[in-house]
Amino acid sequence: MTETAHQGSSAGIPDETDVLIVGGGPAGSLLACLLARRGIRTVLVEKQTSLERSFRGETIAAPSVASLNALGFGPALRAHGFLETTAVTTIAEQRKVLRVDYSKFKGLPLPIDIPQPGLIRIFNEHTEGLADHVYLSGWSFGSLIEDGGTVRGAVLTRRGEKVAVRARLVIGADGRFSKVRKASGLVADVQPMARDFLSFLVPRPPSWGSEAQLVIEGDRHLVILPTFPDSLRIGHNLPKRGLGDLRAAGFDAFKRGIMSISPQLAPLVDEHLHTWDDTGFLEIFTAELEEWARDGLLLIGDASHTATPILGQGVNLAMQDAITIVPVIAASLAKGGQDKVVTKAELADFVAKRRAHKIHVTGFQRMQEAQLAVGDPRGIKLRSLRFRLLNNLPGKYRIFNKVINARHEIDPVDLAAARTAPKPVRTGAKALQEAGRD
Ligand SMILES: Cc1cc2nc3c(=O)[nH]c(=O)nc-3n(C[C@H](O)[C@H](O)[C@H](O)COP(=O)(O)OP(=O)(O)OC[C@H]3O[C@@H](n4cnc5c(N)ncnc54)[C@H](O)[C@@H]3O)c2cc1C
Repeated sequence: MTETAHQGSSAGIPDETDVLIVGGGPAGSLLACLLARRGIRTVLVEKQTSLERSFRGETIAAPSVASLNALGFGPALRAHGFLETTAVTTIAEQRKVLRVDYSKFKGLPLPIDIPQPGLIRIFNEHTEGLADHVYLSGWSFGSLIEDGGTVRGAVLTRRGEKVAVRARLVIGADGRFSKVRKASGLVADVQPMARDFLSFLVPRPPSWGSEAQLVIEGDRHLVILPTFPDSLRIGHNLPKRGLGDLRAAGFDAFKRGIMSISPQLAPLVDEHLHTWDDTGFLEIFTAELEEWARDGLLLIGDASHTATPILGQGVNLAMQDAITIVPVIAASLAKGGQDKVVTKAELADFVAKRRAHKIHVTGFQRMQEAQLAVGDPRGIKLRSLRFRLLNNLPGKYRIFNKVINARHEIDPVDLAAARTAPKPVRTGAKALQEAGRD
């Protein structure tokens, strides 16, 4: 513990808890809810005071939609509203070469688009009424509390104030630039992808329907995603560190470039895209770790493995981590008293399985990105041929099923807890410190 950190009970922040979760994104907020439903004491620390955030992944793949329904979030999702995506079509050099119809995946609902603030709010509202759960918004992770190589909690900070919270497990769910990961000494192999991404929104005309598109022209491409409630989100690749050159060439040139890739999109872009301020930049890299855990510490979501946006898997992978780790944590905590931490050995099986799946997904993404980056005429022809062959392959749906629809178990205890869980509190997650600290 650092010298200036003090125990936080005077502010209503507990001195100790079972699980201290850093990061209230999709992974952390869902995990907090599922643990609290089991009566496990949780503290969820989120550095932002608002759920509103710049754009993040919004696609929830079919198996995760099924899981969210099974875990009792269906009514809240429907009350919020979402958009079902029916298919994705790949258009290469102005020709349709591959179509994946999501209704062909047997026994699964359609994938949905829901903005992250809405999704996270739903998780938080389902957690808020549960006993022994504390949500600290506006507090940041500062450092780990360690004892002989075992993690025993964390020091949290807010505007110069420091509070120590001891825990039997610290979860780093703090995203792609995870500070918990850095503090833990677990080393990430960070690989920049050759290209980055610029994205923007245009209104979605009713005639567009609810199909996503991947539109490729030479070594440039657009990802076009129907977005809730009434937009199209367009992502465009750009060379690594190429934003400066793109801007130097001028906004009109950028616009004309986009319009030349997709004539269908061109009138919408022409009418609705006005300045660079309408666009958002995403640096694309992957981060992979051999080890995700230490005694008393686990990384999940983007902190444990950062994927690329290809096939929209980041939110999914994050939520699947949360769903599948719950019974492992519960079993470990049931074994001992407050001094018993969740050990690396107890987490090993979870890490091995999740890591293998994430590596599989990232491998597919890398292959896809390599295809998209092809620019020579022969390579372009070959790429089109490959897409068309894949389109006609009898095993097409089996291949995509493995990457985007990998099933995951939900523990029966969590299914039962969902059935008896209290109704969500509709006031939005309370910010404990705002009530008690100042
Ligand atoms: C601009 C952008 C676009 C993306 N587009 C896509 C896409 O199209 N498709 C896709 O599948 N994925 C996309 N992703 C990735 C997707 O959003 C993530 O995979 C997903 O959100 C991971 O969830 P998470 O809970 O692990 O982490 P995050 O969603 O990153 O949540 C981490 C949380 O931790 C909080 N936090 C960070 N540091 C601290 C700290 N020190 N103390 C306390 N709290 C902290 C953050 O405020 C945040 O709320 C995109 C990501 C970005 C940034």
